[in-house]
Amino acid sequence: MVEASPHHYLIALGSNRRHHRLGSPRQVLDAALLALESDGIDVLAIAPVIETVPIGPSRRRYANGAAIIATPLLPDALLALLKRIEARFGRRRGRRWSARTLDLDIILWSGGSWYAPAPPLIVPHPAYRTRDFVLRPAATIAPNWRDPLTGLSVAQLCHRAARG
Ligand code: AMP
Repeated sequence: MVEASPHHYLIALGSNRRHHRLGSPRQVLDAALLALESDGIDVLAIAPVIETVPIGPSRRRYANGAAIIATPLLPDALLALLKRIEARFGRRRGRRWSARTLDLDIILWSGGSWYAPAPPLIVPHPAYRTRDFVLRPAATIAPNWRDPLTGLSVAQLCHRAARG
């Protein structure tokens, strides 16, 4: 039997900007998960959304979430899909730390590691290991997923990040 969706991913979702039609950042994340499903992605688990204070000059609060998804897509094709969804939600690229309607990141992949220079894609996500706002939601749905670089589980990374 051919497995339909052989790749599992842990993805992070973030928003700190209201959407004119969808509403609050939290509602943007809910709509993003529906958008993934309507693009053929199986959403297997959804973490409770947390609200965090932003890094950098933007004063808007962030809604942060995480999901486990299954898809036949390899990381490069999944990234292209995530970027298309971000664009549909009005994300303005190229302005770091500015208000973002939707930010979708690939955190971990069941296949291990992936590196591509253009467009840049590094999996595991190069910055997630110290990001409490990624690890806290992630640890609720994927505590035992292991980081291939450090060998630590998501739960262990989360404890470490919380200790600072
Ligand atoms: P940012 O705006 O900070 O979310 O960065 C987005 C860019 O980072 C994307 O255009 C990707 O090419 C690149 N990138 C590198 N690794 C990843 C990853 N694991 N998940 C999502 N984007 C990534």
